[in-house]
Amino acid sequence: MSPLLEVDGLKKHFPIHTGVFSRTSGQVYAVDGISFHIDRGETLGLVGESGCGKSTAGRTLLKLLEPTGGKIRVRGEDITDLDQDRMLPYRRQMQMIYQDPYASLNPRMSAGDIVGEPLIIHRVGTPGERRERVAGLFERVGLRPELTRAYPHEFSGGQRQRIGIARALALSPELIVGDEPVSALDVSIQAQIINLLMDLQNEYQLSYLFVAHDLAVVEHISDRVAVMYLGRIVEMTDKTSLFETPLHPYTEALLSAVPIPKYGARDRKRVILTGDVPSPINPPPGCHFHTRCPYAMARCRHKAPLLREIQPGHWASCHLHDAGVRFPLAKPGSE
Ligand code: SF4
Repeated sequence: MSPLLEVDGLKKHFPIHTGVFSRTSGQVYAVDGISFHIDRGETLGLVGESGCGKSTAGRTLLKLLEPTGGKIRVRGEDITDLDQDRMLPYRRQMQMIYQDPYASLNPRMSAGDIVGEPLIIHRVGTPGERRERVAGLFERVGLRPELTRAYPHEFSGGQRQRIGIARALALSPELIVGDEPVSALDVSIQAQIINLLMDLQNEYQLSYLFVAHDLAVVEHISDRVAVMYLGRIVEMTDKTSLFETPLHPYTEALLSAVPIPKYGARDRKRVILTGDVPSPINPPPGCHFHTRCPYAMARCRHKAPLLREIQPGHWASCHLHDAGVRFPLAKPGSE
């Protein structure tokens, strides 16, 4: 059976225009050939530093941005080149929750109208049925139904994110892309929203692509995790393998910066990442990570490593594995 969502070599490049004639003078390689799948009821966490292309990847696979290359399949159906009309049934199945619960809700619409708007756009139900559905969604996400008449500024950040979740659920989707959905919230509220998302997943067999930079949050909610660096996936596996045995130096560095005790973080060597993420306009040749990698070798500067299955179900792109070097190199207790 085909996965719910398959992404194959997906690319999103943004042209850079300069001069009075708006000549194309370069490209931003925001997403540069990523592949993964998400099964029904599964959560794939997509992590990386800010600017690595993870949010663009989420928007592109929903076709909120037109892909530059690659394929997107939903239950085996290729939706990459569908126009707006033919995308409509797929839009119902795939929804998004945004990072900023302040900016993502229209301040001039009541909360009830915001949640019910997708039902009107997709011509679902009568006005009475829509009102009932909206009230039910409010209750399901933990908001009192009488709050449908209130406006976004009357809600707290956590409540606004609940409105965003209710809106995403309105059309009974199968896949929700969460674009950093809890990173603008206080830590205590984050936990409530994460727990709500997990409850909804169990209840409706939802699939999530959970885009985040916070590894602790990703660890909590994900079944599998993909790590992105400068537009490419550098490692992907189930969350336990990733957190216990990272097979890419970039993942090792990310985990070292945010230790999670249950994965033996205290025994792990500290790896400090130097410098910022290079510009996606002119990414370093070869392995994009070579300018910051503590293990970089000569070949890393000109040859891009392939994403390979290093262990069953555990994919990584690093020449250390091609060279037969056992990774991780860090020995427990070798501070
Ligand atoms: Fe580091 Fe080279 Fe591996 Fe890239 S390929 S992560 S530069 S060792």
